[in-house]
Amino acid sequence: MRPLIPSLVALGAIALVPTAPEPEPLRGFTAQSSALERSWEAKFRAIPNPQRMRESMRRLSARPHHVGSPYGKQNAEWIRDQYASYGWDARIETFDVLFPTPVERLVEMVAPTRYRAVLQEPTVPADPTSSQHAEQLPTYNAYSVDGDVTGPLVFVNYGVPADYEELERRGISVKGAIVIAKYGGSWRGIKPKVAAEHGAIGCLIYSDPADDGYGNGDVFPKGPMRPPQGVQRGSVADMPTYPGDPLTPGVGATKDAKRLAVSAAPTLTKIPVLPISYGDAQPLLAALTGPVVPSSWRGGLPITYRFGPGASRVHLKVKFDFGLKTLYDVIARLPGTTEADQWVIRGNHHDAWVNGAEDPISGQVAELEEARALGELYKQGWRPKRTIIYASWDGEEPGLLGSTEWVEAHADSLVAHAVAYLNTDSNGRGYLGIDGSHSLESFANGVEKDITDPESNVSSWKRNQAGLVVGGNADARAGGDLRIGALGSGSDYTPFLQHLGIASMNLGFGGEDNGGIYHSIYDDFYWYTHFSDTSFVYGRALAQAVGTTVMRLANADVLPFVFTNLAATTHRYIDELQKLRDARAKAIDEERQRATDSVYAIVRDPRDPVGAPRLQTSPPRFDFAPLLDAQDSLAAAAKQFEKAYSSWQNGQGAATQDGSQAAERAAPNLVDVNRRLMRAERVLMLRDGLKNRPWFKHSLYAPGFYTGYGVKTMPGIREAIEQGEWRSVNGEIARVAEALNAETALLKEAAALLQAR
Ligand SMILES: [Zn+2]
Repeated sequence: MRPLIPSLVALGAIALVPTAPEPEPLRGFTAQSSALERSWEAKFRAIPNPQRMRESMRRLSARPHHVGSPYGKQNAEWIRDQYASYGWDARIETFDVLFPTPVERLVEMVAPTRYRAVLQEPTVPADPTSSQHAEQLPTYNAYSVDGDVTGPLVFVNYGVPADYEELERRGISVKGAIVIAKYGGSWRGIKPKVAAEHGAIGCLIYSDPADDGYGNGDVFPKGPMRPPQGVQRGSVADMPTYPGDPLTPGVGATKDAKRLAVSAAPTLTKIPVLPISYGDAQPLLAALTGPVVPSSWRGGLPITYRFGPGASRVHLKVKFDFGLKTLYDVIARLPGTTEADQWVIRGNHHDAWVNGAEDPISGQVAELEEARALGELYKQGWRPKRTIIYASWDGEEPGLLGSTEWVEAHADSLVAHAVAYLNTDSNGRGYLGIDGSHSLESFANGVEKDITDPESNVSSWKRNQAGLVVGGNADARAGGDLRIGALGSGSDYTPFLQHLGIASMNLGFGGEDNGGIYHSIYDDFYWYTHFSDTSFVYGRALAQAVGTTVMRLANADVLPFVFTNLAATTHRYIDELQKLRDARAKAIDEERQRATDSVYAIVRDPRDPVGAPRLQTSPPRFDFAPLLDAQDSLAAAAKQFEKAYSSWQNGQGAATQDGSQAAERAAPNLVDVNRRLMRAERVLMLRDGLKNRPWFKHSLYAPGFYTGYGVKTMPGIREAIEQGEWRSVNGEIARVAEALNAETALLKEAAALLQAR
């Protein structure tokens, strides 16, 4: 295949003999330091090698490597040795965490007919690792409680709160019933949580073929989609309350840590849960009687979807070994020089549910290639100013265990030293997705512009822009910074960003690969090399993108945060919240009017009666003034900082022309400036954290209490409005305003320090 990037030698030559006019300096660099940075980056981006990534994936996904497995430990040791061979100081740090594994699993329909669920993913002859049954974790949901329950079955669609409102309007109760929910629509842990809140005694979750099975393409091994007996494993711990080891909230799960009793762990489910395949779900769903579900609830099975309950009764039994298992986090360091006590941290997990070629090895192999390339540069004389820490986490799959325990164990030093955290997880083909702290939005745009998309040969930024335009967002044509998304949860950035307030980014390519092997035995080397980034050119692009990000953060003279983007984002969030209040008021008033007019009674079909929705009280007007004022001040301070930054950059330009003496006199103390900038995400934290889940402290970003992975921005305010807790809204507004005011004060200090004297 034709190489897509010029050879190392050619790039070296370009750097030494510049023929084109110098581009604008990189954010945070002077004209001089920017030119040097660009030449090292060009050398860096030439090193990551797709063939090596392929071989690393083959090695790391050769056997099942879940938490506590022999191969998981071997992988950690192999990864450590790789980092060490690249010249890094690498070691393994261990934690001991609760990780339940199944002892007994049973799902059977006992009436009106009998059916016993298979609960086993079969070997696919073409796929060599699919036969490793002795080492595979059975299909189950981690952190379900033990249980042995029998009851009527009720279909609850995706099992989110709105689905239960629909059931209530039809007079269908799940009290004393076992519910069956489709995967999707929320993070899986929300389903048993909401089911238990409504009185259910058990929960089954299945993958409907309309979502990731034959409704979307050929099933494995002919195509990439989920086969009939494929099952999605996964955690159902209440992660929106706190992630990490359920027994050691807030502290590292070290040997001598104080542990809760398993029975007292608040993040375990309240009812037993088990995931099943659509092959096993079909007979259960086909036996349901009662009214036909609305079209939005129907899936892709060749049956009539009904709510139940009816004569069908299901028996669910699960029993787990609730023992502690050891986590093996690999932590590798490349020492900094002048700013060694400022840390740039980058991570990807290495544990999987089974063989996990896509999740997480596709990201892990990119991380290893970055580490190898940075090690190469180091040997050639490149030195990062700041210390670089590369982490390969264990225990992400059960609940961000390895990252959370490490963050909790080292919280004080991370608060003092961390500049930013960069995360990757699964990688595929398509668009470079970056979500994260909006103070890094402009910086992220800069990185995207320097990465070449392997399929279109334009920059990843250009391809993202084109994708937005085609998707109907004509504003993207203007050429300003493209927006990055906010982070909810679902990977290892959560403890860094939302517990400690370390500015974070999550990067990955995607949007073109369709697949139905998530958390099944078929997420393996065979599947990945047939259906995803088969030539690993996107693996290389990911290594180039993240490595470039790391290098820029590690060597910038002024840390590349741009707060005008943050201010614009907070403006948008406040606007959304005001509109949300008005929309809720309008909808609630409309329902009250309908009740007054008895319209539901008039339109009721006596053969398929649907009742009126439950009425809610109308929201009062909230006092957004403190937040609006705080936002105004933040916008002004962000502009002031940009002005100071420009004056610093111009001063640098003038200084290099006028000679070194002038430069020395004009130079601000950048160490003091950067110390302020490092704290810019920290001061956005709420002192007491979010209501009912104080582990989550960020005032702007949190996973939704009822969505799981999905982000809620300005979560304290937003969830109070969404959940109708009108009396707490003004208090939540005041808390976010206080956080924005702290940010404003910090930016003013940083601007004053940076302003050329
Ligand atoms: Zn993952």
